[in-house]
Amino acid sequence: MKTFKLISLIFVLMLFACSKGKNVAASGSSPTSASAVNTDASKLLPDTSPAPTFNADRAMQYVKEIVALGPRPIGSENHKKVENYILSHLKGDRVEQDSFDVHPTEGTFPVRNIIAKFQGARDGIIVVASHYDTNWPLRKTSYIGANDGASSSALLLEIADQLRGKKLEGYSVWLLWDDAEESMKLPWDDPESLYGVRHLAQKWQDDGTLKKIKAFLLEDMIGDADLNIEHDTNSTAWLEDLILQAATRLGYQSHFFARSMPVTDDHMAFLQHGVPSADLIDFDYGYNDVFWHTTEDTVDKLSPKSLEIVGTVTLETVRLLNQQ
Ligand SMILES: [Zn+2]
Repeated sequence: MKTFKLISLIFVLMLFACSKGKNVAASGSSPTSASAVNTDASKLLPDTSPAPTFNADRAMQYVKEIVALGPRPIGSENHKKVENYILSHLKGDRVEQDSFDVHPTEGTFPVRNIIAKFQGARDGIIVVASHYDTNWPLRKTSYIGANDGASSSALLLEIADQLRGKKLEGYSVWLLWDDAEESMKLPWDDPESLYGVRHLAQKWQDDGTLKKIKAFLLEDMIGDADLNIEHDTNSTAWLEDLILQAATRLGYQSHFFARSMPVTDDHMAFLQHGVPSADLIDFDYGYNDVFWHTTEDTVDKLSPKSLEIVGTVTLETVRLLNQQ
């Protein structure tokens, strides 16, 4: 038994050692039961607030329009086009652009984070984020990142549509399209990645913004028709609990937290600065994640319903955060 335990431990350590970008293989332990958190809707406090609204068809249309631009790696013409596409949907909104250059071994590249700020009545900020670049190493293929990059970027555009013109009684909501997320090299955990979030977390640390952020919610690969959002053990535990509570209130809990794993993603930069952060990611894209980072990542694998589930759960999580 001891030997077995030792072998298991070595196996788990090896998995951590070879963990890659957006992933770490399920940690070798059996999936954590979701019953550790309050999933039983009947135990939640009476709350008759209406479910958030979300236009799934319009969100899906945004996905298709982004994907139609083609591969969108940093430094490319298509990348400029997707920047302009996002900005064109934020006309009249309060938008901040965080532009700078990065210098990976492949050269110098311009990077642009785009932030749309929706002012709330309460002092404090909730950030909802998605990267919008596609893989640089796949730039010469037909890779278009329908799920990985486009789905979550479109989700944020639809959330902007939902927030626009409304009086927000709670915290301000800042939507962040972060850039240069994807690794410049294979494998995907190369340190030449996550430039946008790392730059912004430092900038917001320096200018005092960071301490106002109550929560950082990351959306990544959320369009899969077979939607299974992971329970990310790197994310802040109470925020994961709140997401599951939101999903349960909306009746979507079966799409959440069937398996637990540590995920390394854009949210790490904010976690490392002490910001409560959570990653809404489905890392089971096709059998054994076979469509991830391949030219198979196309719109036909996605569903508007998945966008609606994640979109409304995100908005419901924001509402629950405002009650705290
Ligand atoms: Zn990716």
